[in-house]
Amino acid sequence: MSNKIFLNDNLVDIEEAKISVFDRGYLFSDGIYELIPFFKGKPFLLEDHYKRLERSLDMVDISNPYSKAEWKDKIDRFTKENDYKNFSLYIQITRGVPSDFSDGIFREHAATKKYTSSVTMFTSEIKGFPSFAPKREKAIILDDKRWLQCDIKSISLIYNAYAKTLASRSEAYEAILVRNNNITEGCSSNVFIVKDNVIKTCPKTNLILPGITRSFIINQIIKKNNYKFKEENFSLNELKSADEIFVTNSTQGVIEINKLDDKEIGNGEFGPISKKIYENFVESVN
Ligand code: PMP
Repeated sequence: MSNKIFLNDNLVDIEEAKISVFDRGYLFSDGIYELIPFFKGKPFLLEDHYKRLERSLDMVDISNPYSKAEWKDKIDRFTKENDYKNFSLYIQITRGVPSDFSDGIFREHAATKKYTSSVTMFTSEIKGFPSFAPKREKAIILDDKRWLQCDIKSISLIYNAYAKTLASRSEAYEAILVRNNNITEGCSSNVFIVKDNVIKTCPKTNLILPGITRSFIINQIIKKNNYKFKEENFSLNELKSADEIFVTNSTQGVIEINKLDDKEIGNGEFGPISKKIYENFVESVN
């Protein structure tokens, strides 16, 4: 792969992309990230991703290292160097490295010093989407043991990563998370159910990441099709007895869940509503 890594304004080879062990991202997960999908070389919903990036920075009081115009320019130049047609652009911003260690303190929780933030960008190829048929996958169910600010796209993903590893060991695509008997989201997706032709997803609160795909599907695709839709909490039992379940994220669009742990969902065929939403999504990114 000839693709480079963007590291603090430099384009470097993978082996050269190194940061200090005193970076607060490394020591405290003190940073945020964003992931922007590109289809046929073009960013999809860039403005929405940028707004979420700004919001995440604000929520953890990390100053934005660049202006909006600078971001656009850097993203544009960096992604033009890239070999892929369909890819995700990962952007990470950490509070960074202290500018001064003269007090002999190398690690302290309070961010009291001056810091130079670390900005990293790299791309990963999106394979098998959007041109292929919709996917049906298994999910497992786990307790949502994350902190209470899941609306911040924080790089502290230890529970999400752990849950996804458990899912992968069960040959499942996703782990769907339950808090106080309500479904919140998947560890890398938002969750929708369909029951008696009504689509439901949980409301946008601090307990979920406000998915860009989730909003696009609600505001464009569900509206366009005049589906009945409710943004309200639903229980684990409702999930288990749904006619259809689908999960959404930026790199896969829409994935239908046909198995929850070992229980089959639906009748063994693609759910008609999930399929339609998948097809409309693929049309939108083409
Ligand atoms: N929830 C979580 C926890 C996620 O990690 C993701 C993927 N970033 C999503 C939802 C879906 O968000 P988006 O549609 O913006 O990719």
